[in-house]
Amino acid sequence: MKKTIVGLLDELKSGATTSEALAKAALESAKANAADNAFVSLDEEGALEAARAIDAKRAAGEKLGALAGIPLAVKDNILAKGLRCTCGSKILGNFVAPYDATATERLRAAGAVIVGKANMDEFAMGSTSETSASGPVTNPEWPELIPGGSSGGSAAAVARGTVPAALGSDTGGSIRQPAACCGVVGFKPSYGRVSRWGLVAYASSLDQIGPMANTVEDAALLYDVVAGHDPHDSTSATRPAPATLPELKNGDPKIRIGVPEECFGEGLDPEMREVLQKALDDLKADGAELVKVSLPSLKHAIASYYIIATAEASANLSRFDGVRYGHRSPEAKDLESLYRKSRSEGFGKEVQRRILLGTFVLSSGYYDAFYVQAQKVRRLIADDFAKAFASCDVVATPVLPGPPLKRGEGLKDPLAMYLTDIFTVSLNLAGLPGISVPVGSCGGSSASLQLVAPAFEETRLLQSAWRLERLRR
Ligand code: GLN
Repeated sequence: MKKTIVGLLDELKSGATTSEALAKAALESAKANAADNAFVSLDEEGALEAARAIDAKRAAGEKLGALAGIPLAVKDNILAKGLRCTCGSKILGNFVAPYDATATERLRAAGAVIVGKANMDEFAMGSTSETSASGPVTNPEWPELIPGGSSGGSAAAVARGTVPAALGSDTGGSIRQPAACCGVVGFKPSYGRVSRWGLVAYASSLDQIGPMANTVEDAALLYDVVAGHDPHDSTSATRPAPATLPELKNGDPKIRIGVPEECFGEGLDPEMREVLQKALDDLKADGAELVKVSLPSLKHAIASYYIIATAEASANLSRFDGVRYGHRSPEAKDLESLYRKSRSEGFGKEVQRRILLGTFVLSSGYYDAFYVQAQKVRRLIADDFAKAFASCDVVATPVLPGPPLKRGEGLKDPLAMYLTDIFTVSLNLAGLPGISVPVGSCGGSSASLQLVAPAFEETRLLQSAWRLERLRR
Protein backbone atom coordinates (compact mmCIF):
# COMPACT_ATOMS: atom_id res chain seq x y z
CA MET A 1 0.00 0.00 0.00
CA LYS A 2 1.40 3.36 -1.01
CA LYS A 3 1.75 6.07 1.60
CA THR A 4 -1.31 8.18 2.19
CA ILE A 5 -1.47 11.86 3.10
CA VAL A 6 -3.05 10.91 6.42
CA GLY A 7 -0.21 8.47 7.14
CA LEU A 8 2.47 10.96 6.15
CA LEU A 9 0.93 13.67 8.34
CA ASP A 10 1.27 11.28 11.29
CA GLU A 11 4.89 10.57 10.41
CA LEU A 12 5.61 14.27 10.19
CA LYS A 13 3.91 14.94 13.50
CA SER A 14 5.78 12.20 15.33
CA GLY A 15 9.10 13.29 13.85
CA ALA A 16 9.56 10.01 11.97
CA THR A 17 10.21 12.08 8.85
CA THR A 18 10.57 15.67 7.75
CA SER A 19 8.94 17.67 5.07
CA GLU A 20 12.33 18.15 3.42
CA ALA A 21 12.92 14.39 3.34
CA LEU A 22 9.51 13.85 1.75
CA ALA A 23 10.10 16.53 -0.87
CA LYS A 24 13.52 15.09 -1.70
CA ALA A 25 12.10 11.58 -2.00
CA ALA A 26 9.33 12.82 -4.30
CA LEU A 27 11.79 14.67 -6.52
CA GLU A 28 14.10 11.66 -6.64
CA SER A 29 11.24 9.35 -7.55
CA ALA A 30 10.11 11.74 -10.30
CA LYS A 31 13.63 11.83 -11.74
CA ALA A 32 14.23 8.09 -11.39
CA ASN A 33 10.96 7.47 -13.27
CA ALA A 34 11.45 10.24 -15.82
CA ALA A 35 10.61 7.70 -18.55
CA ASP A 36 7.00 7.69 -17.26
CA ASN A 37 6.70 11.28 -18.52
CA ALA A 38 4.38 11.97 -15.60
CA PHE A 39 5.83 15.45 -15.13
CA VAL A 40 6.25 18.33 -17.54
CA SER A 41 8.44 20.19 -15.07
CA LEU A 42 9.78 19.86 -11.54
CA ASP A 43 10.29 22.67 -9.07
CA GLU A 44 13.30 21.32 -7.20
CA GLU A 45 14.43 24.56 -5.65
CA GLY A 46 10.98 25.89 -4.78
CA ALA A 47 9.83 22.57 -3.32
CA LEU A 48 12.86 22.14 -1.09
CA GLU A 49 12.64 25.74 0.07
CA ALA A 50 8.93 25.40 0.89
CA ALA A 51 9.58 22.10 2.67
CA ARG A 52 12.34 23.56 4.82
CA ALA A 53 10.12 26.49 5.74
CA ILE A 54 7.43 24.06 6.95
CA ASP A 55 9.99 22.08 8.95
CA ALA A 56 11.16 25.32 10.58
CA LYS A 57 7.59 26.31 11.43
CA ARG A 58 6.97 22.89 12.94
CA ALA A 59 10.16 23.10 15.00
CA ALA A 60 9.08 26.52 16.25
CA GLY A 61 5.71 25.11 17.34
CA GLU A 62 3.76 27.33 14.96
CA LYS A 63 0.25 26.46 13.80
CA LEU A 64 0.38 24.37 10.62
CA GLY A 65 -2.12 23.91 7.78
CA ALA A 66 -4.00 20.74 6.90
CA LEU A 67 -1.42 19.64 4.31
CA ALA A 68 1.72 20.88 6.04
CA GLY A 69 4.78 19.27 4.48
CA ILE A 70 2.93 17.01 2.02
CA PRO A 71 4.46 16.82 -1.48
CA LEU A 72 1.88 17.13 -4.25
CA ALA A 73 1.70 17.43 -8.03
CA VAL A 74 -0.48 19.87 -9.92
CA LYS A 75 -1.73 19.27 -13.46
CA ASP A 76 0.01 21.43 -16.03
CA ASN A 77 -3.10 23.44 -16.92
CA ILE A 78 -3.33 24.87 -13.37
CA LEU A 79 -1.13 27.91 -12.80
CA ALA A 80 1.66 27.79 -10.22
CA LYS A 81 3.44 31.12 -10.06
CA GLY A 82 6.94 31.12 -11.54
CA LEU A 83 6.61 27.65 -13.07
CA ARG A 84 6.01 26.86 -16.71
CA CYS A 85 2.39 26.11 -17.57
CA THR A 86 2.39 24.37 -20.93
CA CYS A 87 -0.97 22.56 -20.91
CA GLY A 88 0.97 19.85 -22.75
CA SER A 89 1.13 22.12 -25.78
CA LYS A 90 3.90 23.49 -27.92
CA ILE A 91 2.00 26.74 -28.18
CA LEU A 92 2.58 27.37 -24.45
CA GLY A 93 5.99 25.68 -24.39
CA ASN A 94 7.70 28.64 -22.73
CA PHE A 95 4.79 30.21 -20.88
CA VAL A 96 5.58 30.94 -17.23
CA ALA A 97 2.62 31.41 -14.89
CA PRO A 98 2.51 34.99 -13.61
CA TYR A 99 0.31 34.08 -10.63
CA ASP A 100 -1.06 31.11 -8.68
CA ALA A 101 -4.43 29.58 -9.52
CA THR A 102 -6.75 29.82 -6.53
CA ALA A 103 -6.50 26.03 -6.06
CA THR A 104 -2.69 26.23 -6.07
CA GLU A 105 -2.76 29.15 -3.66
CA ARG A 106 -5.02 27.23 -1.28
CA LEU A 107 -2.72 24.19 -1.40
CA ARG A 108 0.27 26.34 -0.58
CA ALA A 109 -1.61 28.15 2.20
CA ALA A 110 -2.39 24.73 3.73
CA GLY A 111 1.34 23.95 3.72
CA ALA A 112 1.47 21.60 0.73
CA VAL A 113 4.75 21.40 -1.15
CA ILE A 114 4.26 21.48 -4.91
CA VAL A 115 6.99 19.36 -6.46
CA GLY A 116 6.03 19.68 -10.09
CA LYS A 117 3.54 20.07 -12.90
CA ALA A 118 1.89 16.90 -14.13
CA ASN A 119 1.74 15.92 -17.80
CA MET A 120 -1.57 15.76 -19.65
CA ASP A 121 -3.26 15.50 -23.02
CA GLU A 122 -2.76 18.73 -24.91
CA PHE A 123 -5.17 21.32 -23.49
CA ALA A 124 -6.92 18.48 -21.61
CA MET A 125 -8.44 17.20 -24.84
CA GLY A 126 -8.23 13.45 -24.74
CA SER A 127 -8.67 10.30 -22.70
CA THR A 128 -5.26 8.70 -23.18
CA SER A 129 -2.49 11.18 -22.21
CA GLU A 130 -0.71 10.50 -25.48
CA THR A 131 -0.97 13.92 -27.12
CA SER A 132 1.27 16.05 -24.92
CA ALA A 133 4.09 17.99 -26.55
CA SER A 134 6.19 16.52 -23.71
CA GLY A 135 5.46 12.99 -24.91
CA PRO A 136 3.02 10.27 -23.83
CA VAL A 137 2.54 9.33 -20.17
CA THR A 138 3.20 5.73 -19.10
CA ASN A 139 0.79 3.83 -16.88
CA PRO A 140 3.07 2.69 -14.04
CA GLU A 141 0.90 -0.32 -13.18
CA TRP A 142 0.10 -1.60 -16.67
CA PRO A 143 2.66 -0.07 -19.07
CA GLU A 144 1.14 -1.58 -22.21
CA LEU A 145 -2.13 0.23 -21.51
CA ILE A 146 -2.87 3.96 -21.57
CA PRO A 147 -2.81 5.74 -18.20
CA GLY A 148 -6.09 7.43 -19.16
CA GLY A 149 -6.52 11.11 -19.75
CA SER A 150 -6.37 13.87 -19.74
CA SER A 151 -4.92 14.06 -16.18
CA GLY A 152 -2.70 11.03 -16.90
CA GLY A 153 0.42 12.57 -15.38
CA SER A 154 -1.37 13.25 -12.09
CA ALA A 155 -2.72 9.68 -11.99
CA ALA A 156 0.67 8.17 -12.90
CA ALA A 157 2.51 10.24 -10.28
CA VAL A 158 0.13 8.96 -7.60
CA ALA A 159 0.12 5.37 -8.87
CA ARG A 160 3.93 5.37 -9.01
CA GLY A 161 4.05 6.57 -5.39
CA THR A 162 6.01 9.72 -6.31
CA VAL A 163 3.41 11.89 -4.57
CA PRO A 164 0.53 10.77 -2.35
CA ALA A 165 -1.96 12.94 -4.26
CA ALA A 166 -2.31 15.42 -7.09
CA LEU A 167 -4.73 17.90 -8.59
CA GLY A 168 -6.31 17.12 -11.93
CA SER A 169 -9.01 18.78 -13.98
CA ASP A 170 -12.15 17.18 -15.35
CA THR A 171 -14.19 18.48 -18.28
CA GLY A 172 -15.70 15.17 -19.36
CA GLY A 173 -13.93 12.57 -17.24
CA SER A 174 -10.30 13.66 -17.10
CA ILE A 175 -9.94 13.03 -13.36
CA ARG A 176 -12.11 9.94 -13.03
CA GLN A 177 -10.88 8.06 -16.10
CA PRO A 178 -7.13 8.22 -15.55
CA ALA A 179 -7.79 7.38 -11.91
CA ALA A 180 -9.62 4.25 -13.09
CA CYS A 181 -6.87 3.35 -15.60
CA CYS A 182 -4.12 3.64 -12.97
CA GLY A 183 -6.06 2.14 -10.05
CA VAL A 184 -6.34 5.26 -7.88
CA VAL A 185 -9.22 7.40 -6.57
CA GLY A 186 -10.35 10.39 -8.67
CA PHE A 187 -12.95 12.90 -7.52
CA LYS A 188 -14.68 15.54 -9.63
CA PRO A 189 -16.61 17.97 -7.42
CA SER A 190 -19.85 19.71 -8.45
CA TYR A 191 -19.49 22.44 -11.04
CA GLY A 192 -18.71 25.63 -9.14
CA ARG A 193 -17.27 24.00 -6.04
CA VAL A 194 -13.61 24.59 -6.84
CA SER A 195 -12.54 27.88 -8.33
CA ARG A 196 -11.47 27.81 -11.97
CA TRP A 197 -9.38 30.97 -11.52
CA GLY A 198 -5.99 30.10 -12.95
CA LEU A 199 -7.18 26.89 -14.63
CA VAL A 200 -6.50 27.27 -18.35
CA ALA A 201 -9.97 26.96 -19.86
CA TYR A 202 -10.93 24.09 -22.15
CA ALA A 203 -14.75 24.21 -21.92
CA SER A 204 -15.68 26.72 -19.24
CA SER A 205 -19.18 25.42 -18.49
CA LEU A 206 -17.82 21.90 -17.85
CA ASP A 207 -14.32 22.34 -16.36
CA GLN A 208 -13.71 21.46 -12.70
CA ILE A 209 -10.53 20.96 -10.66
CA GLY A 210 -10.39 18.01 -8.25
CA PRO A 211 -8.17 15.61 -6.34
CA MET A 212 -6.57 12.28 -7.29
CA ALA A 213 -5.26 10.18 -4.42
CA ASN A 214 -4.75 6.66 -3.05
CA THR A 215 -7.76 6.76 -0.73
CA VAL A 216 -11.15 8.42 -0.48
CA GLU A 217 -10.03 9.97 2.81
CA ASP A 218 -7.06 11.68 1.17
CA ALA A 219 -9.26 12.89 -1.68
CA ALA A 220 -11.69 14.37 0.87
CA LEU A 221 -8.84 16.09 2.69
CA LEU A 222 -7.51 17.66 -0.49
CA TYR A 223 -10.99 18.64 -1.63
CA ASP A 224 -11.72 20.39 1.67
CA VAL A 225 -8.61 22.52 1.18
CA VAL A 226 -9.40 23.66 -2.37
CA ALA A 227 -13.22 23.89 -2.25
CA GLY A 228 -15.25 27.00 -1.56
CA HIS A 229 -16.24 30.30 -3.07
CA ASP A 230 -13.72 32.48 -4.83
CA PRO A 231 -14.65 36.02 -5.90
CA HIS A 232 -12.16 35.69 -8.79
CA ASP A 233 -14.38 33.10 -10.49
CA SER A 234 -17.91 34.33 -11.17
CA THR A 235 -19.09 30.73 -11.67
CA SER A 236 -17.80 29.58 -8.30
CA ALA A 237 -20.68 28.73 -5.99
CA THR A 238 -21.39 31.15 -3.16
CA ARG A 239 -22.98 28.54 -0.90
CA PRO A 240 -20.81 27.31 1.97
CA ALA A 241 -18.64 24.25 1.28
CA PRO A 242 -18.88 22.24 4.50
CA ALA A 243 -15.78 20.21 5.37
CA THR A 244 -16.32 16.61 4.32
CA LEU A 245 -13.52 14.97 6.25
CA PRO A 246 -15.05 15.19 9.75
CA GLU A 247 -18.22 13.53 8.40
CA LEU A 248 -16.54 10.97 6.16
CA LYS A 249 -17.09 7.92 8.34
CA ASN A 250 -20.58 8.91 9.52
CA GLY A 251 -22.46 7.94 6.37
CA ASP A 252 -25.66 5.95 6.53
CA PRO A 253 -24.99 2.34 5.43
CA LYS A 254 -28.67 2.09 4.46
CA ILE A 255 -28.14 4.45 1.57
CA ARG A 256 -30.24 3.94 -1.58
CA ILE A 257 -28.01 3.37 -4.59
CA GLY A 258 -29.54 3.96 -8.00
CA VAL A 259 -28.40 1.53 -10.67
CA PRO A 260 -29.24 2.87 -14.16
CA GLU A 261 -30.31 0.07 -16.47
CA GLU A 262 -28.67 1.84 -19.45
CA CYS A 263 -25.24 1.64 -17.79
CA PHE A 264 -24.97 -2.05 -17.08
CA GLY A 265 -26.37 -3.54 -20.26
CA GLU A 266 -25.14 -3.67 -23.82
CA GLY A 267 -21.78 -2.06 -24.52
CA LEU A 268 -20.28 -2.95 -21.15
CA ASP A 269 -17.47 -5.48 -21.14
CA PRO A 270 -18.87 -8.66 -19.47
CA GLU A 271 -15.96 -8.98 -17.07
CA MET A 272 -16.33 -5.32 -16.10
CA ARG A 273 -20.04 -5.91 -15.49
CA GLU A 274 -19.30 -8.85 -13.24
CA VAL A 275 -16.72 -6.96 -11.13
CA LEU A 276 -18.94 -3.91 -10.73
CA GLN A 277 -21.96 -6.06 -9.89
CA LYS A 278 -19.92 -7.72 -7.17
CA ALA A 279 -19.08 -4.28 -5.72
CA LEU A 280 -22.77 -3.35 -5.76
CA ASP A 281 -23.67 -6.65 -4.08
CA ASP A 282 -21.10 -5.92 -1.38
CA LEU A 283 -22.67 -2.53 -0.76
CA LYS A 284 -26.04 -4.25 -0.50
CA ALA A 285 -24.68 -6.73 2.03
CA ASP A 286 -23.38 -3.69 3.94
CA GLY A 287 -26.94 -2.35 4.27
CA ALA A 288 -27.46 -0.38 1.07
CA GLU A 289 -30.60 -0.70 -1.00
CA LEU A 290 -30.12 -1.10 -4.75
CA VAL A 291 -32.77 0.79 -6.70
CA LYS A 292 -33.40 0.52 -10.45
CA VAL A 293 -33.26 3.91 -12.13
CA SER A 294 -33.19 5.04 -15.74
CA LEU A 295 -31.14 7.60 -17.65
CA PRO A 296 -32.84 7.44 -21.07
CA SER A 297 -30.95 10.41 -22.54
CA LEU A 298 -27.55 8.97 -21.74
CA LYS A 299 -27.29 7.61 -25.27
CA HIS A 300 -27.02 11.18 -26.56
CA ALA A 301 -24.43 12.30 -23.99
CA ILE A 302 -21.31 11.80 -26.11
CA ALA A 303 -22.74 13.65 -29.10
CA SER A 304 -23.95 16.50 -26.92
CA TYR A 305 -20.68 16.70 -25.00
CA TYR A 306 -18.45 16.74 -28.09
CA ILE A 307 -20.51 19.57 -29.56
CA ILE A 308 -20.61 21.73 -26.43
CA ALA A 309 -17.02 21.07 -25.36
CA THR A 310 -15.57 21.75 -28.80
CA ALA A 311 -17.74 24.86 -29.27
CA GLU A 312 -16.46 26.31 -26.02
CA ALA A 313 -12.91 25.22 -26.79
CA SER A 314 -12.95 26.94 -30.16
CA ALA A 315 -13.78 30.22 -28.41
CA ASN A 316 -11.42 29.69 -25.45
CA LEU A 317 -8.45 28.74 -27.59
CA SER A 318 -8.78 31.77 -29.84
CA ARG A 319 -6.67 33.63 -27.29
CA PHE A 320 -3.60 31.68 -28.38
CA ASP A 321 -2.88 33.82 -31.39
CA GLY A 322 0.90 34.15 -31.42
CA VAL A 323 0.56 37.70 -30.17
CA ARG A 324 -0.24 37.54 -26.48
CA TYR A 325 0.91 34.10 -25.40
CA GLY A 326 3.40 31.44 -26.28
CA HIS A 327 4.63 30.31 -29.65
CA ARG A 328 4.96 32.88 -32.42
CA SER A 329 5.88 31.63 -35.86
CA PRO A 330 9.15 33.12 -37.07
CA GLU A 331 7.89 32.71 -40.65
CA ALA A 332 4.95 35.08 -40.34
CA LYS A 333 4.85 37.88 -42.88
CA ASP A 334 1.69 39.72 -41.94
CA LEU A 335 -1.01 39.58 -39.27
CA GLU A 336 -3.04 36.85 -40.92
CA SER A 337 -0.07 34.59 -41.52
CA LEU A 338 1.06 35.29 -37.95
CA TYR A 339 -2.22 33.87 -36.64
CA ARG A 340 -2.36 31.02 -39.11
CA LYS A 341 1.24 29.87 -38.87
CA SER A 342 1.58 30.31 -35.10
CA ARG A 343 -1.59 28.31 -34.48
CA SER A 344 -0.83 25.64 -37.10
CA GLU A 345 2.66 25.13 -35.70
CA GLY A 346 1.68 25.44 -32.03
CA PHE A 347 -1.42 23.24 -31.77
CA GLY A 348 -1.32 19.47 -32.17
CA LYS A 349 -3.63 17.47 -34.41
CA GLU A 350 -6.32 16.63 -31.84
CA VAL A 351 -6.57 20.23 -30.64
CA GLN A 352 -6.85 21.43 -34.24
CA ARG A 353 -9.58 18.87 -34.86
CA ARG A 354 -11.53 20.16 -31.85
CA ILE A 355 -11.16 23.81 -32.85
CA LEU A 356 -12.42 22.98 -36.34
CA LEU A 357 -15.35 20.95 -34.99
CA GLY A 358 -16.26 23.65 -32.49
CA THR A 359 -16.07 26.42 -35.04
CA PHE A 360 -18.25 24.39 -37.38
CA VAL A 361 -21.03 23.66 -34.86
CA LEU A 362 -21.21 27.35 -33.96
CA SER A 363 -21.24 28.60 -37.53
CA SER A 364 -24.31 30.17 -39.04
CA GLY A 365 -26.62 27.54 -40.48
CA TYR A 366 -25.30 24.80 -38.22
CA TYR A 367 -25.70 26.50 -34.86
CA ASP A 368 -29.36 25.55 -34.53
CA ALA A 369 -28.87 22.06 -35.91
CA PHE A 370 -25.98 21.16 -33.61
CA TYR A 371 -25.24 23.57 -30.79
CA VAL A 372 -28.83 24.35 -29.78
CA GLN A 373 -29.81 20.68 -30.00
CA ALA A 374 -26.83 19.71 -27.85
CA GLN A 375 -27.88 22.23 -25.21
CA LYS A 376 -31.36 20.70 -25.19
CA VAL A 377 -29.89 17.25 -24.67
CA ARG A 378 -27.79 18.68 -21.85
CA ARG A 379 -30.99 19.74 -20.11
CA LEU A 380 -32.58 16.31 -20.68
CA ILE A 381 -29.59 14.60 -19.10
CA ALA A 382 -29.78 16.85 -16.05
CA ASP A 383 -33.52 16.08 -15.84
CA ASP A 384 -32.82 12.32 -16.04
CA PHE A 385 -30.49 12.56 -13.06
CA ALA A 386 -32.96 14.72 -11.12
CA LYS A 387 -35.63 12.07 -11.68
CA ALA A 388 -33.25 9.30 -10.63
CA PHE A 389 -32.35 11.14 -7.43
CA ALA A 390 -36.02 11.28 -6.49
CA SER A 391 -35.74 7.57 -5.66
CA CYS A 392 -32.10 7.18 -4.60
CA ASP A 393 -29.30 8.96 -2.74
CA VAL A 394 -26.40 8.21 -5.07
CA VAL A 395 -26.20 6.70 -8.54
CA ALA A 396 -23.63 4.04 -9.46
CA THR A 397 -22.21 3.57 -12.96
CA PRO A 398 -19.05 2.17 -14.53
CA VAL A 399 -16.22 4.64 -15.18
CA LEU A 400 -14.99 2.89 -18.32
CA PRO A 401 -16.88 0.51 -20.61
CA GLY A 402 -14.01 -2.00 -20.45
CA PRO A 403 -10.31 -2.25 -19.65
CA PRO A 404 -8.20 0.80 -20.65
CA LEU A 405 -7.27 1.04 -24.34
CA LYS A 406 -3.87 -0.22 -25.43
CA ARG A 407 -1.32 2.45 -26.12
CA GLY A 408 -1.79 3.94 -29.58
CA GLU A 409 -5.36 2.68 -30.12
CA GLY A 410 -6.98 6.02 -29.34
CA LEU A 411 -4.59 7.90 -31.60
CA LYS A 412 -5.50 5.67 -34.52
CA ASP A 413 -9.23 6.00 -33.97
CA PRO A 414 -10.34 9.22 -32.22
CA LEU A 415 -14.00 8.21 -32.36
CA ALA A 416 -13.24 5.00 -30.46
CA MET A 417 -11.52 7.18 -27.87
CA TYR A 418 -14.48 9.58 -27.63
CA LEU A 419 -16.79 6.59 -27.04
CA THR A 420 -14.88 5.56 -23.91
CA ASP A 421 -16.24 8.77 -22.30
CA ILE A 422 -19.82 7.50 -22.25
CA PHE A 423 -20.12 7.17 -18.45
CA THR A 424 -18.22 10.27 -17.42
CA VAL A 425 -19.30 13.18 -19.65
CA SER A 426 -22.93 13.23 -18.48
CA LEU A 427 -21.89 14.38 -14.99
CA ASN A 428 -20.11 17.41 -16.40
CA LEU A 429 -23.09 18.19 -18.61
CA ALA A 430 -25.32 18.08 -15.50
CA GLY A 431 -22.79 19.73 -13.14
CA LEU A 432 -22.83 16.77 -10.73
CA PRO A 433 -20.06 15.50 -8.44
CA GLY A 434 -18.65 12.04 -9.16
CA ILE A 435 -15.94 9.82 -7.83
CA SER A 436 -14.10 6.88 -9.34
CA VAL A 437 -13.21 4.17 -6.83
CA PRO A 438 -11.14 1.07 -7.69
CA VAL A 439 -13.15 -2.07 -6.90
CA GLY A 440 -11.35 -4.95 -8.58
CA SER A 441 -9.65 -6.01 -11.75
CA CYS A 442 -10.79 -6.40 -15.34
CA GLY A 443 -8.76 -7.71 -18.27
CA GLY A 444 -5.74 -7.94 -16.00
CA SER A 445 -5.90 -4.27 -15.03
CA SER A 446 -8.08 -2.16 -12.75
CA ALA A 447 -11.87 -1.74 -12.67
CA SER A 448 -13.52 1.22 -10.98
CA LEU A 449 -17.06 2.08 -9.98
CA GLN A 450 -18.31 5.64 -10.36
CA LEU A 451 -20.61 7.06 -7.69
CA VAL A 452 -22.62 10.20 -8.47
CA ALA A 453 -24.52 12.50 -6.12
CA PRO A 454 -26.83 15.49 -6.61
CA ALA A 455 -25.03 18.82 -7.02
CA PHE A 456 -23.32 20.06 -3.86
CA GLU A 457 -23.85 16.78 -2.00
CA GLU A 458 -20.12 16.09 -1.83
CA THR A 459 -20.33 14.90 1.76
CA ARG A 460 -22.90 12.22 0.92
CA LEU A 461 -20.89 11.18 -2.12
CA LEU A 462 -17.61 10.84 -0.25
CA GLN A 463 -19.30 8.99 2.62
CA SER A 464 -20.67 6.37 0.23
CA ALA A 465 -17.32 6.13 -1.57
CA TRP A 466 -15.56 5.62 1.74
CA ARG A 467 -17.90 2.75 2.61
CA LEU A 468 -17.37 1.19 -0.80
CA GLU A 469 -13.60 1.45 -0.50
CA ARG A 470 -13.67 -0.03 2.99
CA LEU A 471 -15.50 -3.09 1.68
CA ARG A 472 -12.91 -3.65 -1.01
CA ARG A 473 -9.77 -3.59 1.13
N1 GLN B 1 -12.01 12.83 -22.88
C1 GLN B 1 -12.77 14.03 -22.82
C2 GLN B 1 -12.30 14.98 -23.91
O1 GLN B 1 -11.45 14.60 -24.61
C3 GLN B 1 -12.67 14.67 -21.47
C4 GLN B 1 -11.42 15.44 -21.24
C5 GLN B 1 -11.43 16.19 -19.95
O2 GLN B 1 -12.20 15.89 -19.04
N2 GLN B 1 -10.61 17.22 -19.89
O3 GLN B 1 -12.79 16.04 -24.07
